[in-house]
Amino acid sequence: MKNLILFICFFIGFTQCKKEKSKNTSKAISLAEIYDKATKQKPVESYEAINKVLASFKQVSYYQLDKAYVEKAGLIPSLYAHRTFYIIKGKDVFKYLVGTFRVQDFLPDDEYAKKNLENLQAGHTQYLLLDTKLLYRFLDLLKALKAKGYKPDFEVDDGFRYPTFNDKTGGAKGSLHTHGMAVDIDIADVDGNGKIEKADKKIILDLVENQIIKDKGGVGRYPWSQTVHFDVRGWYARWDKQN
Ligand SMILES: [Zn+2]
Repeated sequence: MKNLILFICFFIGFTQCKKEKSKNTSKAISLAEIYDKATKQKPVESYEAINKVLASFKQVSYYQLDKAYVEKAGLIPSLYAHRTFYIIKGKDVFKYLVGTFRVQDFLPDDEYAKKNLENLQAGHTQYLLLDTKLLYRFLDLLKALKAKGYKPDFEVDDGFRYPTFNDKTGGAKGSLHTHGMAVDIDIADVDGNGKIEKADKKIILDLVENQIIKDKGGVGRYPWSQTVHFDVRGWYARWDKQN
């Protein structure tokens, strides 16, 4: 019976079924759980599986993007004309993209995301710019953690940020996030001892430093927080502060 109710909620727009929450994220979590039940989707655990999810989305060139979006997002042709964007619509935001991390984890948590959640049936369009290499390294991290008996207990804070969203969140100018090549994660209880500590963060930092990114990308260490940034820029970069 419970499943039936969830199933019905899934198709009528949810708001009557779930208490309205103020933040995009908390609302999205309950909708995502309903999506999981309805689709029985499996974690994405290989490069091929990542490719398959990405291939399920329509891709468009820079010149096929909605003009109003391009202007609002600050996507200037000199930097973006050669890039291809994924079109993400409606419930597709809940698809697993890598492990059990979802497409929406890598999209900006902005007004477009909010609009989409408000009317999933209409399928409001969001554009995702994402380097596949970033997802591969993310998967490498998940696998390395698993091999050592740790859990991927972290949240993706941000993946792709278009330039104006990057400015709004205080990202560095020209950040690799604006090219879909970076991710920030907020680390919780990776070692599973019931506490969120610096030791959890050290596990991730050591893996990223020695196994996952090495001299092939950037690592932001932000020592006063539980956040780690990594990117696939292709050369060595390290920093502790945002600027
Ligand atoms: Zn970052």
